Amino acid sequence: MTKRYAGRTVLITGGGTGLGREMAIAFAQEGAHVCVIGRRAEKLDETVAAIEALEGKALGLTADVRDVARIDEVVKEVRSRTGRIDVLVNNAAGNFVVPSEQLSPNGFKAVVDIVLLGTFNVTRAAFEALRESEGKILNIIATYAWSGEPGAVHSASAKAGVLAMTRTLAAEWGRYGIRANAIAPGPIHTEGTDKNLWSIADIEEHVRARIPLGRLGTPGDVARAATWICSDDAAWISGAALPVDGAHWLGGGTLDFRAAYDAAAGAAQKH
Ligand code: NAP
Repeated sequence: MTKRYAGRTVLITGGGTGLGREMAIAFAQEGAHVCVIGRRAEKLDETVAAIEALEGKALGLTADVRDVARIDEVVKEVRSRTGRIDVLVNNAAGNFVVPSEQLSPNGFKAVVDIVLLGTFNVTRAAFEALRESEGKILNIIATYAWSGEPGAVHSASAKAGVLAMTRTLAAEWGRYGIRANAIAPGPIHTEGTDKNLWSIADIEEHVRARIPLGRLGTPGDVARAATWICSDDAAWISGAALPVDGAHWLGGGTLDFRAAYDAAAGAAQKH
C-alpha cells in the first residue's frame, strides 16, 4: 500500500513528548520526513531515535515557539534540509491548574504566549512553504476552547483563540489550497497532564465516569485522527474542530441517568 505521506515533510511543535511524539511517529510510519521542535534537546532526540528505530526519517531542532527569530531559522533549516513543509502541527502548550482569582497577569501571559502567540509565530513562519505545497495546518486545542475550563482560564482562553485562528486561516488561506483544522483531545495521560494537571490517583475515576465511551484516550487515538485529517482522505475538510475525546465534553450531564440505567438493569434481571 502506498504510504500517504511519502515524500512529504511534517513539522510538529512539542514533538518530543506526549501527543506530539506519538503524532511524529505516526506520520513517520506513513512515510513522512518529520521535524520535531521543542525546548529540550534530549526529548527531541528520543523521538528522533524512536522514528529511526522504525526506519523512518526524522530531525529534531530545539526552539521555543515564543522566539520569532529562532522559529524563522528553524523553518528555513527544515526547508533547506527537506525541500518543503507539507503539514504543520501546532501542538506545543503549557498549562497548570489555578483558581482564576489567584492567577497573576504573568501566569496568564505565559500560557497565552506559548499556546496562542506561539501557534501564530510558527504558522506565520511556515506560510510560504505551506502555500507552495498546498499544505495543511493542524492545531491541537482542547474541547474547553468552547466549553471553558474552571481552573484553567489561561489555557481555555488561549485555545479559544487558536480555534478562532484555525477557522480564520481556513477561510483566508483556502485560496492557496491550504487546509486548517483543529483536533480537541479529551483526557489522555501524558508527561504534561500527569505532572501539571491531574494525577492518576487523584481523579482518574472521576474523569472516566464522565466519558461516555468509558475509557481515557490514548496518544494513538489522537495520532490516527491527525494522520487522517491532514491526508488527502480529508481533502475537503477545512475549518473543522474535531473532538477526539470519547464524547467526554458531552458526558457530564445534570440528571442522575446512570442510576436510572442501573435500576432498569436490576429490574430486567429480576424477570
Ligand atoms: P506535553 O507532553 O506536556 O507536551 C507539550 C509539549 O510542548 C512538550 O513536548 C514541550 O516540550 C512543548 N513545549 C512547551 N512549551 C514550549 C515552547 N515554549 N516552545 C516549544 N515547545 C514547547 O503534553 P501533551 O498532553 O502531549 O499535550 C499536547 C497537546 O495536546 C497540547 O496542545 C495540549 O494542550 C493538548 N491537549 C492534551 C490533552 C491531554 O489530556 N493530554 C487534552 C487536551 C488537549 P519542551 O518542554 O521540551 O519545550
